[in-house]
Amino acid sequence: MAEAKPTKCLVVGAGPVGALAALYAARRGWDVDVYELRGDLRDASTTPLNFTKSINLALAERGINAMRHSGSPALLDRVFAEAVPMYGRMVHSASSAGTLTEESQQYDVHGRFNRAVDRANLNKLLLDEVETLPNVKLHFNHKLVGADLRKRKAWFERKAAPPQTADGAQAHQDQTDGREQEVEVDFDLMLGCDGAHSNARYHMMKFVRMSYEQSYIDTLWCEFTIPPAGPTSATTPTAKDGFATSPDHLHIWPCDHGLFIAIPSIDKSFTCTLFAPSATFATLEQDPATITQFFQTRFPNAADLIGHAELRQQFEQNPHLPLISIKCSPHHYSSTGVILGDAAHAMVPFYGQGMNAGLEDVRVLFQHLDAHPSTPAGRTAALDAYSTERVPDAHAVNDLALANYWEMHSGVRSPLTLIRKKVEEFLNDKLPITGFATQYARVSFSNQRYSEVVETVASQGRILLGGLLGSVVLPGMGWAAWWGWRWYAAGHTTRKAVKGFAGLGMFGERVGRMFT
Ligand code: FAD
Repeated sequence: MAEAKPTKCLVVGAGPVGALAALYAARRGWDVDVYELRGDLRDASTTPLNFTKSINLALAERGINAMRHSGSPALLDRVFAEAVPMYGRMVHSASSAGTLTEESQQYDVHGRFNRAVDRANLNKLLLDEVETLPNVKLHFNHKLVGADLRKRKAWFERKAAPPQTADGAQAHQDQTDGREQEVEVDFDLMLGCDGAHSNARYHMMKFVRMSYEQSYIDTLWCEFTIPPAGPTSATTPTAKDGFATSPDHLHIWPCDHGLFIAIPSIDKSFTCTLFAPSATFATLEQDPATITQFFQTRFPNAADLIGHAELRQQFEQNPHLPLISIKCSPHHYSSTGVILGDAAHAMVPFYGQGMNAGLEDVRVLFQHLDAHPSTPAGRTAALDAYSTERVPDAHAVNDLALANYWEMHSGVRSPLTLIRKKVEEFLNDKLPITGFATQYARVSFSNQRYSEVVETVASQGRILLGGLLGSVVLPGMGWAAWWGWRWYAAGHTTRKAVKGFAGLGMFGERVGRMFT
C-alpha cells in the first residue's frame, strides 16, 4: 500500500551530488530538507571547501545524462552555456634539442568531447534549480553530527552566521558568534552526499556491516592558474581566442614522477594542477625558489605561461592536498539510508570521473526507487538492488582512475598504447559491427556500467592479442626460428641465438600486457 504522506527525504551535503539528489527527490513530490556544513556557496563570502578559488572539472556523458533525467530541461542549457568543450589532450614536451612540441590526441574518433566546467558554478546552477521547487528547504551552516538509522533521526550542529555590517560585509566575530546549537531532524530516507570524509557514512557503519577501505596515494596536488593571453605574456603556437594555449584541449605535461595539467575556463584562463610525490613537494617547500627550475626541467613552457613570480607565489599560497581513494560495501542500510558520490566512492582524479560517477549514482538510485513501491519494504528492495548494482561499478571506476595515472604520465607517450587506441578506433569507425570502442570512449562518452566496461575492454584486449598473434607474432616467430636455425647452423654461438629469442620473448610479453 502506498504511503499517505510524501516521503520525508533528508539530504546531507549540498555539493554537486547532494544538490542533484535533492532535485530528483523534489521532482517526485517528496518533502526534501538539505543540510549543508558550509555557508551558501552562492554567497561571495563562502570559500569552497578544500579549494582556493574553485576547480575546473571535466563533465562527461554520465554527469550530463544524470542532469538530463533530472526533470529540469533548461538545466543543461545553463550548464553548457558556461562550459568549454575539450576535444582531446594536448601533450606538451621538449625534444632533446630543446624544441617545444604540442601533440594533439583527439579523445574520440567521432569527435565527441568533454566539457570543462567550474565546479562551484555547476553547484550554484544546481542549487538555483533546487530552490525553484516549493517542497525543498536548504539549511546552510549545519553539520551532521549524529544519525540513528533505526529511529530515523539525525542531529545537526547549527553554526550561527556572523552578524553583517551595514554594507553587507561580515563583521568581526565576537564571543557569542559562531555558537553551535543542536537541531534534531526526522526522516524516512537519508541521502548521505557529504563527500569523502562523510559523517553520514560513519554513522551508517554503526548499523550495517560495511566493509570499508581507504588509501592515500603518495601524490599531492596543488592548483595554479595560467592567465588569459596578454600583449606581453607567453603563449604557445596553438594559442587562440585570447587563451594562452589551445582552449580546445585538456593540456598535459607528462613526466616520469609527476604530472602537470591545465583545463580551460570560460574567462580564458586555465586552472592547472601539479601532481607530484610528497617527497618532491617537501623538497620544493624547503626551497620554493627552485620551483621555476623544477618546472622548466619537467614541464617545458608551463612556468612561462603562468609567469615565474606567480608560479612561486601560487605554490606558496595554495594548499598542497592529498588524494584519497575509498571503497565500501554496501552503500545503504535497510530502507532508511544510502550514501552517494564521494561519500561512497572517493577516487583519485585521473579519469575525471569522480563527480560524473556521483551524479550517475543519483540517476541509478532513483531508477531503482521508481521501480519499487514508495513504502519501507519497497525502499528496502530498491536500496538493496541499488547497492548490488552500484558497488561493483564504484569499485571498477575507482580502479580505472588509479590505473589512468599511468596512462596520463606515461601512456600518452607510449607507442603501444597509441597503436591499440588507433586499432580500436579504426574498428569502431569502419567496422562498427565488431562493437569495438576504446576504454576512454566507453568511460567518458557512454553510460555503460563501469564494471561492464572493464570486462568488455579486457575481452577486446584478448581478441586483439589473438589477432596480433595469428597475423603477425606467430608467423614472425616462425620466421625468426627458421632464421635463427640458419644462423646457428652457419656457426654462430648458442648464447647469441638464445639472447635473440629472449629479446623476442620480452617483446611478446610487453605486447601481451598491453592487450589484456
Ligand atoms: P563534495 O563535492 O565533497 O560535496 C560534499 C558536500 O557535503 C560539501 O558541500 C560539504 O561541505 C558537505 N559536508 C561535508 N560534511 C558534512 C556534514 N558533516 N554535514 C553536512 N554537510 C557536510 N570529478 C570529475 O567528475 N571530473 C573531474 O575532472 C574531476 N577533477 C578533479 C580534480 C581534483 C584535483 C579533485 C580533488 C577532484 C576532482 N574530481 C573530478 C572529483 C570531484 O571533485 C568530486 O568527485 C565531487 O566534487 C564529489 O561531489 P560530492 O557532492 O559527492 O562531494
